[in-house]
Amino acid sequence: MAEFPVIDRKKCNGCGLCLTVCKCRGLFINGKTIDIVTTVECNYCTRCEVICPTGAISCPYEIIIEK
Ligand code: SF4
Ligand code: SF4
Repeated sequence: MAEFPVIDRKKCNGCGLCLTVCKCRGLFINGKTIDIVTTVECNYCTRCEVICPTGAISCPYEIIIEK
């Protein structure tokens, strides 16, 4: 299953900057905040996380330790 960034809608101000950097077109404005289309393939490039001025998007990584 594809991974998607996590959005904190309370922090999102709807500026739309993340839309301008997302190559997968996986982000869209839903009312006044951003939302994610889960049918597209997000390549987890983290551009949306980097450009967001309010810290509303994060791309957490799961760290798996192999023994
Ligand atoms: S860049 Fe951040 S604040 Fe702006 S629309 Fe995207 S998630 Fe919201
Ligand atoms: S991580 Fe990259 S591809 Fe995925 S939603 Fe953000 S900008 Fe788009």
